[in-house]
This record gives sequence, structure tokens and C-alpha cells, in this order.
Amino acid sequence: MTPPAPLQLPTSDDALAWVRDRTSTGLATARELVTALREAPPSEPLDILRRWDEVSLTLSNVGGLASLLANVHPEIEVRTACEEAEVEVDKLVTELRQDRALYDVFAALDASVLDPTAARLLDKTLEEFRRAGVDQDDATRARLAEISERITTIDQEFSRNIRDDVRTVRATPEQLAGMPEDWLSAHPADDEGLVTVTTDYPDAVPARMFVRDRDVRRAVTVAFLERGYPQNEPLLHDLFDLRHEYANLVGYSDWASYDAAVKMIEKGPAIPEFIERIARAAQGPMERDLAVMLERYRQDVPGAESIDGADSAYYDELVRKEQHDVDSQLVRTYFRFEKVRQGLLEVTGRLFGLRYEPAEDAVVWHDDVTAYDVFPSADTDTDGESLGRIYLDLHPREGKYKHAAQFTITNGVAGRQLPEGALVCNFSPGLMEHDHVVTLFHEFGHLVHHVLGGHVAWTRFAGVATEWDFVEAPSQMLEEWAWDADVLQTFATNAAGEPIPTDLVERMRAADDFGKGTQARQQMFYAAMSYWFHTERPADLTARMVELQERYSPYAYVADTHLFANFGHLGGYSSAYYTYMWSLVIAKDLFSAFDPDDLFDTEVAGRYRDRILAAGGTKDAADLVADFLGRPYTFDAYAAWLAR
Ligand SMILES: [Zn+2]
Repeated sequence: MTPPAPLQLPTSDDALAWVRDRTSTGLATARELVTALREAPPSEPLDILRRWDEVSLTLSNVGGLASLLANVHPEIEVRTACEEAEVEVDKLVTELRQDRALYDVFAALDASVLDPTAARLLDKTLEEFRRAGVDQDDATRARLAEISERITTIDQEFSRNIRDDVRTVRATPEQLAGMPEDWLSAHPADDEGLVTVTTDYPDAVPARMFVRDRDVRRAVTVAFLERGYPQNEPLLHDLFDLRHEYANLVGYSDWASYDAAVKMIEKGPAIPEFIERIARAAQGPMERDLAVMLERYRQDVPGAESIDGADSAYYDELVRKEQHDVDSQLVRTYFRFEKVRQGLLEVTGRLFGLRYEPAEDAVVWHDDVTAYDVFPSADTDTDGESLGRIYLDLHPREGKYKHAAQFTITNGVAGRQLPEGALVCNFSPGLMEHDHVVTLFHEFGHLVHHVLGGHVAWTRFAGVATEWDFVEAPSQMLEEWAWDADVLQTFATNAAGEPIPTDLVERMRAADDFGKGTQARQQMFYAAMSYWFHTERPADLTARMVELQERYSPYAYVADTHLFANFGHLGGYSSAYYTYMWSLVIAKDLFSAFDPDDLFDTEVAGRYRDRILAAGGTKDAADLVADFLGRPYTFDAYAAWLAR
């Protein structure tokens, strides 16, 4: 059998026709496969699951590439066609999951004749159908479909209200002293001698961090925390009520329980327990951080007892700068983009036993994009069959996605299709901030997971198809390699060729460590809001938010502000904002298996690659972690890191 070949992407001349054809052919093929499965299913259970997995593969091939090109293709017609294709795929997926006749085919299967992974697939498939309400009566199914659609539109409106509500604060250039020079020169005063600061991130984030004038900081903070208010308040009440109703209709007591059932945390009530546990672990570290901040704060505000949200970012940054002496301008000189990219490939290649060969035959969507074929490195395997293809699209341009993410192009299934994926980021092509180097390692963690996990037997379990509250852990762990002086010195060299000094890396780490306790508590305030708003559905959101802020946040409430109205994660994360911290706890535990003095130990790295990454979603994440660690995961490594 010849091994699967990489997908050939279209040149820009025929991209539009290619996307349209791939979409219509893919959707038609999926429908034909489903019709055959519903009307004349094969006799063997395994063959039925194979056909269903072929439907999943076909739909993910349309959806994956559409999602990527909708975010990166230089031509707007192609991006639009891809957005339409994504909507079509979503619609068909929802329709299939409510298809009673199709469900009956799976429900009749005897799981006892299947191998464990196939039985897991059957189990997950039935669960997905039931969560869409397939086994409910017609009226209930219709109501569920109506609720789903309404949730989608409310979520879009909620986000739009935040995005469109750009507020402004005007101040004299003197009042803005402290802002970075490049920001000030790009924002000259108007005819009245005033400069406009908007609530958009590129203005509001540095203003809250750097502006020395306390009143201006306060004005920007209040404007920032008022985005989306009051228009989002009634939308949130509707959103929480609809999610609650949906969960009840499919058999759960509340939305958080419905949502948690397919996550590592499993039960809704485990979420507030987790929040309390983190809050307790962070109590001491928070008090320590706050004492340092307050001492500095009192030099400017004598006798102050607490710091509120209008001053927290400024003093957090000031303490870091004054106490840890990290000159970020100097740090940048060690991180030239080409060297960082090459270093990333060498570091991950060495760690995971891989080599990356430029893919000469790959067609790319823009000149900035580089493509590589991934092979097992020569010393672990010499037969040289490709493990997948990756695309790196790392610089900003107009019309391109604004954040950093890994996109799936194709899901890998052993003997059937190679895994292919892309990293889409927005880094400077010259010198990089160290933060961006960390982001690059983080995102590459998702990509390597996608490739190494793309050799399993089923599309449903390919690559990063693990529980959503685990999926960040491998990426958060890979960030550690971007904080290690020995690792950094292999590629971080300045114009004179000198590697980044160890003591500078140590100071960078110390500055990064400061504020872990306050950050953890602030995160738990957000997580508590995300959970309790969905379970209690309080009539007075402001009052409940203020209570939760007092309980968890290190910082005092800024009077008359309404953060919940612009806390966009209430849309996408819903009741599960805890997930990022959950993954971090596991990432710290995973990392504890590595020797800090030898991050490239091949035995540990190989075991991690084979038992966690290569397994994809074939087992529950808790089992994968236990397979690697030789014990269940614990809190200890996280708690020790927090207290450090
Ligand atoms: Zn991530």
C-alpha cells in the first residue's frame, strides 16, 4: 500500500474554484455516505463505524481547510467562500446529530464485539447525538434547535457589542507621560492640544500599564470596564436562561453540568471546588505579591490599604521593572526571527526525535509562508516515511487573523490520510519580544500534537482531539523550553553572535514569577463569575460580580463599572473559564517528570511523545497523563511552582 500523500493546495489563480469544488464535493460525498449508512448499513459493527468515520473525515477536510483559508487567504472572495463553507459544514453536523434514523443504526450496535478504541468511538458518537437531543420527542428537538440558533445569535450580538463599543479618553501629551515613545509619536495632539486614547487594546493596555497620571489611568480603566454596558446585560440574562433550558431538556440540572460532562473535570460542582482549591493555594503567594505592590503604592498614595483595578496594572508593571531590572529592549536583540524559527525546529526536533525538511513541492497561500515535511529523525528511524506536513505563516498582513493559533488542514488517520496543520501568528520579521518567542513555542506545541497524534485509527481521535480542558496542557508545558537558559542559548544570539547571558534569563524568569499569586486569584475571580452566572443566573449581575471580586480578586472593585458586560469569554467559554488554569495544573505536573538540568532526556521525552501526544484522543486525558507519569496527576507541582 502506498503511504498517503500530502494535500496539494491551490495556486492563487484557481483558489476560489478549488475551494468551492472541494466544499460542494465534500458535502455531497458526506450526504451520500450518510444515506447509504442509514438505509443499508453494513452488517459488521466495525464497518458501520468505519463508514461513519469516513463521514467525519470528509466533513473535517472541508471544515478544516475552510477555517484556515477564511483566516489567512490574501483574497477576500476566497475568505468569504471559506466562511460560507464553514457554516455549511456546521449546519450539516447539527442536522446529522439530530437524525433519529442514523442514531438508531448506532444505538443497535453491540459494543462488546468491538476493540476498546472502537467501543470508545461508538460511545462518543452516541453521546454527541444525545447531547444534540436526538432521542427527544419532535417538539423538544425543535425547541433545542431553536435554542441553539438563538444562543449563536446572542453570542454574536454580545461580541459585536463589545467590539463596536469603542470609548475614548482625551488627555494632554503631558498627562500621558510614561506611554512608550513610539505610541506617543504615532498619536499627536489635536487642534485642542489633546490626544485621544481609545479602549482598543493597543491604546488601553499600555495606558493602564504605563501612564503616570493617576486620573488618566482611572478614566481609561472606567471606560474600558464599561464597554458593552448596559446593552449586554439583558443579552446575558437571556443567554444564561437559554443555556439552562437547553441543559434541562437533555437531562442535566444546569448548563455547567452539561458542559463539564465532556471535559476532564466531568461534573459541574467540581468547578467551584477547583476554583476554591486554586484560591487557597494562591492565598499566600497573592499576599506576598500584594505586600510588595502595596509598599510601592504607598510611596505614591500614603496610607493606602488596598489597590483597585485602576492602579493594579501600573504598579504590577512598575514593581517588575524596578525590582528585576529587565530591559526588554536589550532582550529583543537576542531574538532575531529567522534564528528563533530555526531554533524552534531544532529544539522540538531534538526533543521529539523529528526532523523538518523544507517541502519543495508545497504550494503556499502567501510568500511569507514556509512549509516543511516532518520525518522521524535519522537516529530513531531511518526508513524516512513522512509523518505529516506543517505550514508556518508567522507575520502580520492585511486581512489576516490577528491572534496566534494552530489550524488543522487535514486530520491524520493511519494509512488513510496524512496530518497537516498550520501555525498562524503575527510576529515581527525582525527582532522579537521574548513573550512572542514563548507564544511561538506554545502554538507549536499544538501543531506537533496534531502531527504526532495524526496516526491513530479514527478521525474522531486524531491529533488534538482530547478533552477541551486538557488541550492547552501540552502547549503550556512546551513554553518551559523557551524559559531555559541552556535551550535559549542554542539559538538566541545577538548581532555579535553572543548567546543570551544566563543571568539575564534568570532575571527574566524572576520578573515573570512576580505576580503569579495575584494573577491566579484574578483568574479565579473570572472563573467563578463564569460558573456562578451560569448556575445561579443571578437577577443582579453587578451585585454578584462585586461579591465574587471581593472573595477572589486581589484588587478592589472600581465603583460603577460592569466588567461582565465586556467579559467576552462568557460567550465562548460559557461556564468553563476554569479550563486554562486546569490545563496549567496538569502542564506543571507533566513538566515535573523532566530533569530541569537535562530537558532533552530522550527517555522522558520519548515516553511523553508516545504516551501523550501520539495517543491523540484515543483515551481519556487523565489516563494518558497517568500512562506517562506512572501515577494519577496531582496538584503538587503547580502548588510548588506557585509558592516558588
Ligand atoms: Zn493554546
